[in-house]
Amino acid sequence: MPSTKSADLHLHTTFSDGTDSPERVVELARQAGLSAIAITDHDNVEAIPIARTVAAGFGIELIPGIEMSASAEGEEVHVLGFLFDPGHPGLSRHLQEQQARRVERVHEMVKRLARVGVRIDAEEVFRVAGPGTVGRPHVARVLLAHGYITSLSEAFAKYIGPDNPGFVPGSPLAPAQVIRVIREAGGVPVLAHPVYLKRDALIAGFVKEGLAGLEAYHSGHNPDMVRHYVQLADQLKLLKTGGSDYHGNAKEGLPVGAVKVPYALVEALKQWQAATVR
Ligand code: AMP
Ligand code: ZN
Ligand code: FE
Ligand code: FE
Repeated sequence: MPSTKSADLHLHTTFSDGTDSPERVVELARQAGLSAIAITDHDNVEAIPIARTVAAGFGIELIPGIEMSASAEGEEVHVLGFLFDPGHPGLSRHLQEQQARRVERVHEMVKRLARVGVRIDAEEVFRVAGPGTVGRPHVARVLLAHGYITSLSEAFAKYIGPDNPGFVPGSPLAPAQVIRVIREAGGVPVLAHPVYLKRDALIAGFVKEGLAGLEAYHSGHNPDMVRHYVQLADQLKLLKTGGSDYHGNAKEGLPVGAVKVPYALVEALKQWQAATVR
């Protein structure tokens, strides 16, 4: 009988811009009947050891995960990493630098917002973010608290989305650089939610730079898009992954397990990792 085990390989916690603790996310994974999960916080791995302990108690497999920011031709590129060593020194150095860039970025966003008459305090953004990485959703929450917007999505449409006055890219690094960090830490680099990148033409270049997989299944992909990205992954001989991109109540109506992929995809990630000599 084929295995009915399933996985959700894209989840965020309070260590980035999710609103649930790692413990709570694992509990929700248990309720959703998942066999394996990956917590993929933005530029942060601090949830992994906490989630691993809780998951072990439930018999759930916790796969080390991360979502790294990069830029290519003016586009935001998110690269997921799986199955790396969370304590790898090169990875730790990269995360330290990237977390410092994210703090600088908030100061820059606050400055740019002030130029269009929107006055918020960077320190309040850091307080809202708490421990872990700070990001645009934290800025959005402060904008909401001060009445500049009436919904979080309005922040991304008016103030901090691409082409808006307060926008600052998430990272100046090229995808090749974050792909290298993930591979050197023993992990599998996968392009996140290709639909948000919109530029399929860039993907073949990333593959030359060491990209190994495509997140074909994602809550932002309708069935036609899933078919399209599955086909593209097969064409480019890439691994396929998938997940909900759960953010707690920062993304309403999207539960843990909203996107479930067969466990066979996890096995394929492991096989690729075991076979790849670095
Ligand atoms: P950052 O990594 O700081 O650039 O923030 C990216 C995060 O912002 C994404 O992972 C989402 O959680 C959130 N986000 C991006 N676009 C939107 C949007 N249009 N509406 C709500 N949240 C968004
Ligand atoms: Zn996010
Ligand atoms: Fe993303
Ligand atoms: Fe994400």
